[in-house]
This record gives sequence, C-alpha cells and structure tokens, in this order.
Amino acid sequence: MGFVKWLNLLTIFHLFAVTPIFSYSSSFTSKFLDLAKEPEVFDWMVDIRRKIHENPELGYEEFETSKLIRSELTKLGIPYKHPVAVTGVIGFIGTGSSPFVALRADMDALAMQELVEWEHKSKVPGKMHACGHDAHVSMLLGAAKILKAHEKEIPGTIILVFQPGEEGHGGAKKILASGALENVSAIFGLHVHPNEPVGEVTSKSGSLAAGSGFFEAIISGKGGHAAIPHHAIDPIVATSNVIISLQHILSREVNPLDPQVLTVGKFQGGDAYNVIPDSVTIGGTFRAFSRESVMYLKKRIEQVIIGQAAVHRCNATVSFLDEEKPYFPPTVNNEELHEYFNSVVGNLLGVDKVKRAKLLTASEDFAFYQEAMPGYIFFLGMENKSVEQLPSAHSPYYKVNEDALPYGAAIHASLASNYLLKLHQDLPLVQEKYNDEL
Ligand SMILES: [Zn+2]
Ligand SMILES: [Zn+2]
Repeated sequence: MGFVKWLNLLTIFHLFAVTPIFSYSSSFTSKFLDLAKEPEVFDWMVDIRRKIHENPELGYEEFETSKLIRSELTKLGIPYKHPVAVTGVIGFIGTGSSPFVALRADMDALAMQELVEWEHKSKVPGKMHACGHDAHVSMLLGAAKILKAHEKEIPGTIILVFQPGEEGHGGAKKILASGALENVSAIFGLHVHPNEPVGEVTSKSGSLAAGSGFFEAIISGKGGHAAIPHHAIDPIVATSNVIISLQHILSREVNPLDPQVLTVGKFQGGDAYNVIPDSVTIGGTFRAFSRESVMYLKKRIEQVIIGQAAVHRCNATVSFLDEEKPYFPPTVNNEELHEYFNSVVGNLLGVDKVKRAKLLTASEDFAFYQEAMPGYIFFLGMENKSVEQLPSAHSPYYKVNEDALPYGAAIHASLASNYLLKLHQDLPLVQEKYNDEL
C-alpha cells in the first residue's frame, strides 16, 4: 500500500475518531431479540402474563400483581423500592448511579367481564385485563431478566417502573409525585396494538394520543307538573340546549385542522312521564392534541353550560372531576428520542418494521412523564392475520398474541441500554469540548 493510500486511510480514521458515530449494531444489545425468544425468557414471560391475566386487579388495587413482580425481581437479584404510589414497584439495574433511564409498564385491569373462553380466563368476575397491561408487565420483567444478565456492561442505571392505575387514574402522576424518577434523563414506554402486525412497531414524533378531561354538570330548575310547565323551570329543555351549544364549540369555534372531541355520554334527569324534574345531571369527556386546545375546551365547556342554563332560567354547576378522573395531558413524543427510537429499533427489527403511527383520540397517562422529562411511547404490533383478527382494546373478547412478548422485552432492553451507552459515549465529547474552550 502506497504512502498516499495510507494517508487517505489515516484521514478517514481520524474523521471517525473525532466524530464518533454510535453504532447500535456493534453493541451487546443486538442479541436481545434472540435472547428474548429463548424458552428461558419467553416461556417465563408467558407464564407471568397468564398468572396476571387470571387475577386482574383495578387501579391502586394491584396488590397481588405487585407481589408477583417483587417476587420475580427478588429471584432475579434486582433491588427495588416498594410501595411507591400505593402498589407501584421501582426496580434498579446497573451501577446504581447516574445517568438514569426509565422503562415503564402499567399494571391495572378494567372493570369488565371477560367473555373469552380459554384456560387462563380471568378468575375474578367483572374484572379483566382487556388492554394488555398483563403483557406490559411480563415484557418489562422479560427486559429486566435480559438486562440483569448484562448488568456489568450498562454504564448507568435502568429504572424499571411498574406503575399502578393507568386506566383513568393517572398513576403516572403519583409515581412522579413520589420523587422516584428524579434525575431520569429519558423514559420509554410501549402499548400493545391488536391491529398492527406482530414483529412491527408504530410510533411518531410529536403528538400521538389526545389529552383528555372529564366534566359533570348539574343543571337546576324548579320541578313541577308536566301539564303546567309555566309553574316550573324546566331543566330538561335547558340541558337539551346546553348539549347542542356544546357541539357548536367544535363546529364553529375551533380550528377544523386541530382535531378535537366533545362527547356528552351521561344524561340523567326525571323519573316520570308527567313530572318536570328539579335538576338534570350530564357528564362527558373532551379531548385534543395540545394542552392549549384542551384548556380552551375546558374553559368554554364551563361558560357554555352556565350561560345556556341561564338563558333558560336555570342554575348550573360544573365539575371537572379532578380527583376521580384527573385530566390527562396530550401524549407528545420527544423529537430526538424519535430519531433514537427509529435507529435502535430499526437495527433490532429491520427498518421496514418501524412504521408511522396514526393519531389516537384515546389518552395515555404516560403523557404525565413526558411533561416532566423527555419521554417516548410506541405501539407494539400483535396481529397475526393468518391466525386470527384480534378485537380492539377494552373489548370483552380482547386477546393478547403472546408471540409479541419477546419483541417488547427486547425493544425495552435495547432502548434503555443503548441510551445509557449513547450518553456514556457523548459525555467525553462534551467534556472535550469544554476543555477546548478552556
Ligand atoms: Zn386501556
Ligand atoms: Zn392500556
């Protein structure tokens, strides 16, 4: 090899040396998917998922689920904090010091009867894991098992967040309030998706799921005989106008290019055909993809209800049920983490398996984490059309395709460990830059 060629090679080497490119494929994490598919991890995850499925527990009542998680963490030699946010468990893998990266799984089930007849059907009447949170827990444990085996290679600490009460309870808010996630650089979460193919993921940068709030209003008039309405103040007619006016907020006030929802799902008033009741209670939900739009809806809902009730000589009180049904912010994925996610998961599954997600008008309490720190959530496909079409989430016929479990575990493990490796690699660069300036 001639001198010029050597020089060229040296120049190329130097270029790479001063601008290191983080290579996910060269790290130990490239084997994570194969590891997650090994019976030792896969069968174990399936077993845990089925146990949790048989014993579903509602928000902040996940006592047995929490116990099961703790016993598995203990067996794996993973230290944890408990109780956090009532039933929550926070596990630690790695050096025990900074930097910190978190992975989150929600644990709660839904108050509904399972109608799927199978060996591991819910044993608790009226309660069911119909959103896949049983799978979320088992996948995070699967990730923990894989990561624990590589603990010495992890330059920092991975925090495992087993969170209670996602289904309308805002458990994420309680976890944050406990202080368990202070100094965390980034948090990742996933949700299984019954209508995306197994082995694929979908997500997007920016808005992903809506922010949502709930309201309840009591419209009070004066009850009386249906035949002499002029002696009464009819809250039924008043409320009917309230509901129509609420719809005008969406059709006449908000930007049609900014999707928003306002649904009145509850209307209770009167028991008899010939009696005008004293009052009517209505309740509903409102959703939008930015905090500003959610807040605008909230303000206008109150004004319209009170104003329209007054037009009909009624009084109205409006509550936003902050305690029972707290407001969920919009789920907004961090842009840099989106690039990072595409690169890590593209490497693990293949770039063609990482697809763009559609906006969802459902909400996710993962959004609370994203308000506190950079956060990223994605959907994990479960569908295998050649076997069956899976019903949507919250259906009494909901099913989890357990073949998806290794993908979730491996992606969790890869996202967390590569993130710490990346921070570790970026750190000397920052210091070097600082030194140069000196
Ligand atoms: Zn759900
Ligand atoms: Zn869910």
